[in-house]
Amino acid sequence: MANKEQVLVIGLGRFGQALAQTMTRLGHEVLAIDSDPSVVRKCAGDLATVVEADATTVEVLRQIGADDFGMAVVAIGNDIQASIMATYALVDLGVPMIWAKAITTQHGAILQRVGAHNVVFPERDMGVRVAHTMSGRTIDYVELDTEFVLIEATVPTEFVNKRIADTGVRQKYDITVLCVKRPGGRFTYATQDTVLNEKDLVVVFGPTRKAEEFAALPGHRTLLRD
Ligand code: ATP
Repeated sequence: MANKEQVLVIGLGRFGQALAQTMTRLGHEVLAIDSDPSVVRKCAGDLATVVEADATTVEVLRQIGADDFGMAVVAIGNDIQASIMATYALVDLGVPMIWAKAITTQHGAILQRVGAHNVVFPERDMGVRVAHTMSGRTIDYVELDTEFVLIEATVPTEFVNKRIADTGVRQKYDITVLCVKRPGGRFTYATQDTVLNEKDLVVVFGPTRKAEEFAALPGHRTLLRD
């Protein structure tokens, strides 16, 4: 099961539940753990296997069989101590891919220090994303790491009715136009010969600063995702 590894999800708040349900839909076998019996009862209908347990100790996790899992996610937020202890226990058990949710930068740094392989900041990242959309400059904004972003936006005036090759977008803004969507159509890959129209949407990729400069160019229309 190279791609459809078994996943252990610890903590079934909104983030953990959404993650467990999506992983299940994607074909993974999910074992979910929560220490709150009412949460376990509530999730039992939606998830195949939900166990009530305190996931902060190696012994409990071993009993559940956590050491057989290829991937685990610690989705405990408010109880930082529990989040750190559960992550540490998974590291101790040798789980090869541990993801952990952090609610503050400090929390994230500790999780990383303890041995989490990937730390995510859902609230912070969503705040950044929504701010960019609210500013009216982008329709969507996805940070790929701290220095690169994917932006979905309308076409700035200086690019309208031009072939991408003739816009000089690479040279001027150091960004790449990946896809273009005509009104009512679907996204298709952009080529150097693609001509950008006023009502098109584009997805561009590039360094954060440069992509933000592109998004700030005059002519972008305010548009919300339909
Ligand atoms: P979200 O924002 O995803 O809704 P949150 O960040 O507010 O969640 P919490 O509600 O604190 O996080 O925790 C998520 C879940 O983790 C809760 O359902 C809680 O019962 C569970 N949880 C907390 N501590 C433990 C623990 N030691 N073992 C297992 N589950 C735990």
